[in-house]
Amino acid sequence: MNARMNTGSNNFGSSLEYRAKQGQTHRHFATQLAIICIVTALGAAQTSFAATQDQVKDDFYPTWATQAHYLPPFAVLDTDSALGRRNLHPKLITLKDMARMHGHLCDGLVTAWVELNVALRALFPEGVVDRTDVQAVSKNGPCWSDAGAWMTGARINQGTLVLDNSVGDGFIVQRISTGKAVQVSLRPGVYPAQLAALEQSIRARRARGETVEPAEIDRFERDANEYSRTLLNTPPDQVATVERLTNYHFPDHSQNPLAPRSDTINRDAPRIMPQSAVNQQR
Ligand SMILES: [Zn+2]
Repeated sequence: MNARMNTGSNNFGSSLEYRAKQGQTHRHFATQLAIICIVTALGAAQTSFAATQDQVKDDFYPTWATQAHYLPPFAVLDTDSALGRRNLHPKLITLKDMARMHGHLCDGLVTAWVELNVALRALFPEGVVDRTDVQAVSKNGPCWSDAGAWMTGARINQGTLVLDNSVGDGFIVQRISTGKAVQVSLRPGVYPAQLAALEQSIRARRARGETVEPAEIDRFERDANEYSRTLLNTPPDQVATVERLTNYHFPDHSQNPLAPRSDTINRDAPRIMPQSAVNQQR
């Protein structure tokens, strides 16, 4: 009985061992297969990433901007983490940082950079901007509100960035702890009238569903870049004015909370004149 049982037990044991070994073999094979798949996927991802890296250029930020005279980095304090204390040391942010996040370097972003530098210098004469202590009013334009958020730390979702088109191409900026507030604007005549007219004309035609010539977009970009280059090579106090607002009460809601995105209206326009249009001109 014992012998049979032992024999049976041995056979049963062998069967278990066999199944266990089979299981191990299957698991080993599955593990190897998974590793091969992961390595292959990683290899493909690396190849794809390398190919993408080859296409990456910094041409969104032109040489004239890197050579501008009045473009010092901007020192800011934030917090160390989601539950962190105020930073012990400031960090530097640049116009290039903003352009990278905003998506392009445009005349609006450059104007906002200059204006907000002037306004924040008035509120933080010590030279380091505490971005936990600022609220701002901006018009609802993609370039203006992006700069208003990224330079000051004000945020729409926390009620510290309010959108109100009545501020025009400028900002109201307030230091929360002191209540001190300033309104910053461009001096009259700084923004070229022809550039404003061309922008208005292109926007009006696009709003009616009409196309615009690639040359017009090129001309607007060339003139806007020329304006931006001039702005960044002129002392900021000569292009922007700051007015102190006494007893300023920060608005509790946006007057213009929503607006269609206005910097993508020519996204799909051709970069060169279509051949048919060229032929008609000949
Ligand atoms: Zn922009």
